[in-house]
Amino acid sequence: PIVPAARLQQLPVQFFASLVQKANAQIAAGHDVINLGQGNPDQPTPAHIVSKMQEAAANPLYHKYPPFNGFLFLKEAIAKRYKEDYNVDLDPQTEVAILFGGKTGLIEISQCLLNPGDVCLVPDPGYPDYWSGVALAGAEMVFMPLKESNQYLPDYSALSPADLNRAKLMFLNYPNNPTGATASAEFYDETIRFAEKNGVVVASDFAYGAIGFDGEKPVSFLQQKGAKEVGIEFYTLSKTYNMAGWRVGFALGNPEVIRLINLIQDHYYCSLFGGIQAAAAEALTASQACVTDLLQMYENRRDALYLALSTIGWEAKPSKGSFFTWLPIPKGYTSNQFADLVLQEAKVVVAPGVGFGTHGEGYVRLALLSSEARLTEAVERIGRLNLFR
Ligand code: PLP
Repeated sequence: PIVPAARLQQLPVQFFASLVQKANAQIAAGHDVINLGQGNPDQPTPAHIVSKMQEAAANPLYHKYPPFNGFLFLKEAIAKRYKEDYNVDLDPQTEVAILFGGKTGLIEISQCLLNPGDVCLVPDPGYPDYWSGVALAGAEMVFMPLKESNQYLPDYSALSPADLNRAKLMFLNYPNNPTGATASAEFYDETIRFAEKNGVVVASDFAYGAIGFDGEKPVSFLQQKGAKEVGIEFYTLSKTYNMAGWRVGFALGNPEVIRLINLIQDHYYCSLFGGIQAAAAEALTASQACVTDLLQMYENRRDALYLALSTIGWEAKPSKGSFFTWLPIPKGYTSNQFADLVLQEAKVVVAPGVGFGTHGEGYVRLALLSSEARLTEAVERIGRLNLFR
């Protein structure tokens, strides 16, 4: 018999797999299901990026093994974008690592920094990939509750000295998945002081950095003085340029952490296909009009969704960023029960909050990845169940 290694048994259960299965069963039964549960961008990659890839694929330079850790031109392109967008200086040689999507870096950083017995501070609710990396490193998680009453920011003063003594790494993610919250420069300043005092490395997940609503441009952790001394930021092209399938991400900031991430990557793989790197550089250096258009599209969708919600009496504060909305559910249901009910009765898929951590109970997450008309229809269907009045 084949016996899996013990570390695999520590991996969290893929919570959304059963959701997808249930939704597929409804589709197979002939129902028109509106899926607001998953976070897969619905728009295609802009044409100029695809053309660059097609042209680059014909270049024999890219048919060989790419250089370990990727092409310098792509590191220069992301450094230039951070300078332009956030006035952050990054040395392309030492302060940038190219990743197979942000996801790999989120897992690798735990393997780079954590030993068994170490603690990683993880937001709850939060993106489940953080848990996987900590589990594979054999380390422990201490959850930092994100509460509506604190704008979904962690309260560092609530952490126990015993946990802080063992804490080596922490994850933050603003604009936030799943709550749609954003963070201020002041919060990051407080975070840097906290990290310095406790010897904790900060991993800021800026996957939704391009998506901030109501004219508020999301703040990058790296914009704050002292950030590079205590941490790194993860960035990805998946959301900003609708390139989720291309698998391009970056780790940016502290040179020693970047060195470790590059080191571990050397052992897993060389780098991304050069044609993809050329297309990624095109995305970052060409006109950013496509990003402005995307942001407007998400903001229009958010507005349409909240308008529909208010019509059916589902009260919630509008999200400030990311393409997720986080909605309190009526009393008397768990988030799983509520998600099952709206799938069975309204044929709408929503993500139960508990899938993002125990503090996610009492909420569901809806993604803005369908047209305004479909979002509105989904809410109208839920409205007909008369759960909110
Ligand atoms: N971080 C957050 C919070 C996400 O929601 C996602 C994707 O859904 C990622 C990181 C990873 O994105 P990717 O691996 O496509 O770069």
